[in-house]
Amino acid sequence: MTLETCCAPDDLMTPAAALDALRQRVAPVAGTEPRPLMAARGTVLAESITAPHALPAWDNSAMDGWAVRAADTAGAESVTLPVADRVAAGHPRAEPVPPGHAVRIFTGAPVPDGVDAVVMQEHCTADDDGGRVTVPGGVAAGTNVRHAGEDVAAGATVLAQGTRLDARALALAAAVGCDRLLVRRPVQVAVFSTGDEVREPGEPLPDGGLYDANRYMLMGLLDRPDLAVADLGILPDAPKALEGALHDAALSYDVVITSGGVSLGEEDHVRAAVEGLGGLHFWRLAVKPGKPVALGHVGGAAFLGLPGNPVAALVTFLLMGRPLLAGLAGAAVTEPPRYTLPAAFTFDKKAGRREFLRARLADGGRTVERAGPEGSALLGSLVTCDGLVDLAPETTAVAPGDPVPFLPFAEVLP
Ligand code: AMP
Ligand code: MG
Repeated sequence: MTLETCCAPDDLMTPAAALDALRQRVAPVAGTEPRPLMAARGTVLAESITAPHALPAWDNSAMDGWAVRAADTAGAESVTLPVADRVAAGHPRAEPVPPGHAVRIFTGAPVPDGVDAVVMQEHCTADDDGGRVTVPGGVAAGTNVRHAGEDVAAGATVLAQGTRLDARALALAAAVGCDRLLVRRPVQVAVFSTGDEVREPGEPLPDGGLYDANRYMLMGLLDRPDLAVADLGILPDAPKALEGALHDAALSYDVVITSGGVSLGEEDHVRAAVEGLGGLHFWRLAVKPGKPVALGHVGGAAFLGLPGNPVAALVTFLLMGRPLLAGLAGAAVTEPPRYTLPAAFTFDKKAGRREFLRARLADGGRTVERAGPEGSALLGSLVTCDGLVDLAPETTAVAPGDPVPFLPFAEVLP
């Protein structure tokens, strides 16, 4: 990845400008690997897949019923036809159906030559031995027939390079006969927490200590098939130790993610360590919660420094970390999805910064209400809300009924 300094470090940057800068600078990690289809879910496709044959490959029935030649039913109230054959899925009929005959047919069975429409069985009356069937007149050619190629034409691109292989994409790859796919290798990610006060859950808590919430949150957010994540523990607020650990991590990982130590306090040594080992590109976003966030590089590895407060770390991870990792993984660099819903609350806001509010779906999912309190260290209300309302920098007030963008956690938390 090549990231160059894009603004003076003391500028407050809008998330939109930060994302643009990121998009221009981030490149996918080198390296691809073939994977069996079953092991490819969640990775990013490194080749384009074309269909070697059409989908469906042959005309087939969309219904259980009787296949007829539409012309045989023209101009009559109903017609009674001899039944020439019975065609089930997987058992094609080799010979054409003679004119003036019907064929018993089932869903997914190849439509034989000589017939061109299927009448659903609910509209047909067969005699007791199934030798003759009465169908309504005036059947249009093509009725209830799924035509060869109507889904995908032979030779068409079905999956583009850069597609994240979700369950739908795997279904399509399988449908055109792929048994393995060339995918990007997983991005190697190192995760650290920082802070002399931060302790591992399970250890005794000293005076002034707190348990590490961020690493658990980040390891959860990063638990994805396109990433290979290493939990590298907690670093002290000591410049030498930070520098050493970040330097070493940069040798083995594509990206190093830390939390804490990136604001202006005298004990915030992460920023200095990164500047010494590589470079820092922007580090204060005009976002509440989450102002101090750093993006840069340490040696050859990308670097993302998240704020220490857990809610700020989550918001900045969603705004910057998720797109950064998508770019490194070879997928599209985009913000998390948001949906516009009417607000069920009133709110006054400072202009000039983007602000995220904890929110809960109300009225059966038709509106959003607030679910505070909002402090960037408060995890309790984070757990009981459904997502975040995302207020634009220029917004200064929200009244009930105003449309607001809502970011559901269900879409971004694994
Ligand atoms: P910092 O950015 O290092 O000044 O940290 C800001 C706040 O977040 C401080 O109150 C820290 O104690 C707290 N904090 C930092 N790291 C963590 C962590 N891993 N888990 C929970 N809280 C943290
Ligand atoms: Mg700290």
